[in-house]
Amino acid sequence: MREVRIRDTLSGELRTLDPGSEIGIYACGPTVYSRIHIGNARPFVVFSLLSRFLGDEGYRTRFVVNVTDINDKIYDAARTAGRPSAEFAARMTEAYFEDTERLGLGRPDAEPLATETIGEILELIAELVDTGHAYESGGDVYFKVRSFPSYGKLSNRRAEDMDQGEEAGSDSLKQDPLDFALWKAHKEGEDTSWDSPWGPGRPGWHIECSAMAEAELGPSFAIHGGGSDLVFPHHENEIAQSEAAGRPFARLWMHNGMIETDAEKMSKSEGNIFQLSEALDRYGREAVVAYLVSGHYRQPLAFGSEQMDQAVAQVERLRNFFREHRVDSKGRPPGGSPSEQQRGGSAGDPPGARLSAFRDALADDFNTPRAMAEVFELVGEANRGELPGAPEAVAEMLELVGLGSLAQPDEGAETGERAKELLAEREEARAAKDFGRADEIRDRLAELGWEVRDSADGARLVPKA
Ligand SMILES: [Zn+2]
Repeated sequence: MREVRIRDTLSGELRTLDPGSEIGIYACGPTVYSRIHIGNARPFVVFSLLSRFLGDEGYRTRFVVNVTDINDKIYDAARTAGRPSAEFAARMTEAYFEDTERLGLGRPDAEPLATETIGEILELIAELVDTGHAYESGGDVYFKVRSFPSYGKLSNRRAEDMDQGEEAGSDSLKQDPLDFALWKAHKEGEDTSWDSPWGPGRPGWHIECSAMAEAELGPSFAIHGGGSDLVFPHHENEIAQSEAAGRPFARLWMHNGMIETDAEKMSKSEGNIFQLSEALDRYGREAVVAYLVSGHYRQPLAFGSEQMDQAVAQVERLRNFFREHRVDSKGRPPGGSPSEQQRGGSAGDPPGARLSAFRDALADDFNTPRAMAEVFELVGEANRGELPGAPEAVAEMLELVGLGSLAQPDEGAETGERAKELLAEREEARAAKDFGRADEIRDRLAELGWEVRDSADGARLVPKA
């Protein structure tokens, strides 16, 4: 088991995870008011892979990603769509599950919904009211920020630079503009509400996460994660609520940088591929995952067709490597489990050393670009000359970053599923003598990396070399 260190946003320091205790990871998930985009996929991928790596190193992990399915944005989007908000949120939650499922990284251990945690949320608010950290006003309940002296410790902001970003009308109900809502009274035009000791209404966003994290991981847990855009006010407010209520809460805060897009390009040609499902259709899941691990999680990451084309090229290079160097279906050498030496990679042999360096990079603040550099170094070395154990070592590395399927280059990957659908559509078009449509689909398949070969037995797909 390696010592794993992660940069803690709160202290600014690299902190070592405690191998003796469960590593509970809570990552803030999406607010389901639309299909998710690449920016929402980043924390899902980063924290899924961190959990996978820790588990592989022998840590006990529990990984939780919530779904915010009560929110102003959901009411607005449902109204625009002309649908009841609960139905709309349920449909977007389903779409989120489908889209993230296609990433092929498995599911978190728990995925709580705000709508299913109302009891816990109400209990936590009541505790804060009882202890003087919160007050009722006009059917709303607000957290009294100045009752929590260390408020601002995560984001290091001065009180005068803080804006809770709440709707204008709420200021008259607050004792102090710094205060933020834990509970919002039911308003005209909102088609859902829940009963509470303060009248019908709904929870605020921040209290949902405090309650869901505690419900799934207990009052103290190892890592709270999310995008760096959540540091203030969302995470600052989670700390205030939970700690004011006497919970130790998260021992370490881990934030991923934003995905950066070129506004001009996005409005023209690239807006659609920013949506995760579109990016998956167009580039395949491996390229999307390879793109997301190409940068260090804490840094911003530029997004556009250029970066995605690079990821496709990397993925193709790896797929081709395994067309030349076969491994058995589990990415292990045929005839047995890997030796301790192979797993630890302590050996003086180059594949073992690369594998060890790969794992060291992940253990060092989850440095995926440094880890991927080891993958490509080893691929290059093995391509220059026979290197026993190299394919197995590369396969093991790729498995840890969710790209293990590349070691089976010609088996039905996600791209393959989509490609099969398209092939069936092309067959229908040909049967209907719509050859223009058939050619369009062939071109689309070529974009996805597949060549159509027609033969007497019908058409089949071959990955493009
Ligand atoms: Zn949250």
